[in-house]
Amino acid sequence: MKKINRPTVKQAEEAVKTLIAWAGDNPNREGLLETPKRVVNAYREFFSGYDIDPEKILGKTFEEIGDYEEMVLLKDMRMESHCEHHMVPFLGKAHIAYIPDKKVVGISKIARLLDVYAKRLQTQEVMTVQIANMIQKTLKPKGVAVLIDAKHQCMTTRGIHKINTSTITTSMCGLFKTDPRMEEKFLSMIKLNSGEC
Ligand SMILES: [Zn+2]
Repeated sequence: MKKINRPTVKQAEEAVKTLIAWAGDNPNREGLLETPKRVVNAYREFFSGYDIDPEKILGKTFEEIGDYEEMVLLKDMRMESHCEHHMVPFLGKAHIAYIPDKKVVGISKIARLLDVYAKRLQTQEVMTVQIANMIQKTLKPKGVAVLIDAKHQCMTTRGIHKINTSTITTSMCGLFKTDPRMEEKFLSMIKLNSGEC
């Protein structure tokens, strides 16, 4: 990703003050005095994914997998991201599967990969493909499947106000794309006992 020049913390706090005034409030009233600082700290956390190279996360693989050649599935992972159009949260679940080809990776690394992409300004569509492509590129498995199911606050709290609508995006590579039985298996496994998010 291309490096951009980051403003200082002070400049970022000033920008928050401007938005508070734009909303119609007085940024200098007592209850709001610390708000710019809090917002900037929250942004640091919401968007911490820019400082991490996703390729490095999957760098360490474990080759010893014995005879394991079935799907590895992480399901119902909590996903928190921000839409790049409105900078408000979209929240939901991600399900990520791959079929190893002699190599596996620590399962927490997959969860971490999700977070690195989620903690950026995103569209759900792009993020879904980015995750699948990065797993495919670094691990070179026989297949990767990613499904994200999320609710967008830009649709639920503003604009069209469709509160119960969730958006589902998928990205399939390798066997999940070429073998309909694998895709079906993935979809039926993620349905098992999946609760509300
Ligand atoms: Zn949006």
